[in-house]
Amino acid sequence: AADERESMYLVSKYAQDYFHKTMLNTQKGKAIGLSYFKERGFTQEMIETFQLGYCLDEWTAFTDSALKDGYDLQYLESTGVTIVKEGGKQFDRFKGRVMFPIHSMSGRVLGFGGRILTNDKKAAKYLNSPESEIYHKSKILYGIYQAKKTISKEDNCYLVEGYTDVISMYQSGITNVVASSGTALTPDQIRLVKRLTPNMTVLFDGDAAGLRASVRGIDLILEQGMNVKVVTFPDGDDPDSFAKKKTTAELKEYLESNQQDFISFKVSLLMEEAQNDPIKKAGLIRDIVMSISKIPDSIKQEVYIQECSRMMDISETVLFNELAQMLDKKA
Ligand code: ATP
Ligand code: MN
Ligand code: MN
Ligand code: MN
Repeated sequence: AADERESMYLVSKYAQDYFHKTMLNTQKGKAIGLSYFKERGFTQEMIETFQLGYCLDEWTAFTDSALKDGYDLQYLESTGVTIVKEGGKQFDRFKGRVMFPIHSMSGRVLGFGGRILTNDKKAAKYLNSPESEIYHKSKILYGIYQAKKTISKEDNCYLVEGYTDVISMYQSGITNVVASSGTALTPDQIRLVKRLTPNMTVLFDGDAAGLRASVRGIDLILEQGMNVKVVTFPDGDDPDSFAKKKTTAELKEYLESNQQDFISFKVSLLMEEAQNDPIKKAGLIRDIVMSISKIPDSIKQEVYIQECSRMMDISETVLFNELAQMLDKKA
């Protein structure tokens, strides 16, 4: 299977280069794919750094080229760039989409995200490579290859939702940024970052709906022993749209002055929801203490208990007792 994987890496690299060159060097590539990225304000430098590309809106343009250049249909199919229907009919999975190659920590091409160019609500906005021998969606973070140096240097990693958030932040000079690409964060993804830094800052899209869901996922990051901060954006903005409206200095200043410790953030979020309802408030206390119980460092736990006691106006003793009970249950 090792040589099979090797063949899949070669096909993926070929596809990345093909989509990239198609976008930069063909009439349609320039008129459709390149204009799309230009209209979104991405610079040529970002197009190169992230090796963005375009898959022509023709059924088999890519597959034909790959076959002609000697790549096996078997690997085109197993990496998912070509779809082979029953009866043998082939077509390009990413037909008519702009392409975001997804790289491993060491820069190998593992798979792709492809975006439609319209805002047609019927079609899936993003299409991803299928799971394969080389692409495991839950084990990779978009942008990690481009970000790893600065993550180590700055000793912090920004986590955003999407491909375009990564690229816009990067273009604005914040290059220690990765995306979970729409899925809930997994322990494997967190471990990837933890190899480089123990500090993570999560940037939420500015819509309340996503917020509650994401908050759950973040307990996972605490469990891995990382320090988590959060920044929220104004309603309707994501890091991409926000970065486009601001200068680099303004963006940096916003991130600095709006970062909150995750637990304090969660407390204020839940407190707002609980208002003066005592039953909800009791649930909230358990929820928060649950988060604290996941921190694998008893000194940090104590500091958080003290802070939450102040924020929630509940005695430290009550919180410590609750924590002790939870830790007993876990043991
Ligand atoms: P854009 O700015 O291009 O509209 P976005 O990144 O803001 O994209 P969101 O709707 O905020 O898009 O979704 C965040 C991320 O979730 C996307 O970047 C993508 O990785 C993933 N995603 C969104 N929609 C889909 C989909 N239909 N199928 C698979 N993944 C998706
Ligand atoms: Mn190039
Ligand atoms: Mn978004
Ligand atoms: Mn967006």
